[in-house]
Amino acid sequence: MICKFVRTCALLGLVNCSSGGAASQGAERGAPAPLAVLTSISTFKSFVSAVGGTRVRVESLVPVGVSPEDYQPTPADIERLHAARLLIENGLGLEAWLARTIENARNPNLTVIVASRGLPSKAGNPHLWMDPELARGYVRAIRDALTAIDPGGRELFSQNAQAYDRRLVALDHEIAKRIATIPAPSRTMIVFHNAWQYYDDRFGLRTLGVIEPSPGQEPNPAYVASLVGLARRHHVRAVFAEPEYSPKLVQTLAQSAGIATVEDLYDDSIGTDPRVYDYDSMLRYDTSVIAKALGGR
Ligand SMILES: [Zn+2]
Repeated sequence: MICKFVRTCALLGLVNCSSGGAASQGAERGAPAPLAVLTSISTFKSFVSAVGGTRVRVESLVPVGVSPEDYQPTPADIERLHAARLLIENGLGLEAWLARTIENARNPNLTVIVASRGLPSKAGNPHLWMDPELARGYVRAIRDALTAIDPGGRELFSQNAQAYDRRLVALDHEIAKRIATIPAPSRTMIVFHNAWQYYDDRFGLRTLGVIEPSPGQEPNPAYVASLVGLARRHHVRAVFAEPEYSPKLVQTLAQSAGIATVEDLYDDSIGTDPRVYDYDSMLRYDTSVIAKALGGR
């Protein structure tokens, strides 16, 4: 039986016939089949694409424009996890639904990388990637994970990671310059959810208040009133939110405090807006919106 199988392969001129499926199809063309990689959120897709290049095929589990903090996984997600080789998640509670979904996928070949592991988190806030300096750590973790699974790509992954790392350093400088145009007393934000702590700390802004401190739990009126008081005392210029959340609370707060609303910041998800199609363009767009709303350029 084995002999017959080998002979059939030889007759067909196939290389690596016994490994089957996509890998052998790729080998026929002289290139390995792309590695199936999943990321929890769309924001991380740019990191994987930049490092993996043509050796990976990457998708995000949480669709663009959806919050990962209260995402409900679908049966299709379980299937995708079953077929994937590598999953990049953030950790620190961002994807509370994910552990069970991975379990249900029953995929012994799946490598799971918690990208924030080893990086300095603050009070359990999961949004470390919003600081480009910390995003460099995500890129290193992704480079190492890809190399471990696909050692033949070592050189490519290393070169790509280095090039992307340089882009992140340049992006970091660019953002710092832009934020510096905001008058110092105005460098404060009230935000819908606490996605901005690392970005703010990096660039000398301050998250003064958070409308929804616990994902999915609407704050009570007394808490919203306390934020209005805070906004007035500190002369906060704007309240910021993402398009995936209901604007009702943001508008109530802004009207009561007599300040502006910005409802199109992107952080957990890139945008459906074509200007916000990857990590770099997302942070550039956000920075531009924040700088203008707070009186900078
Ligand atoms: Zn978030």
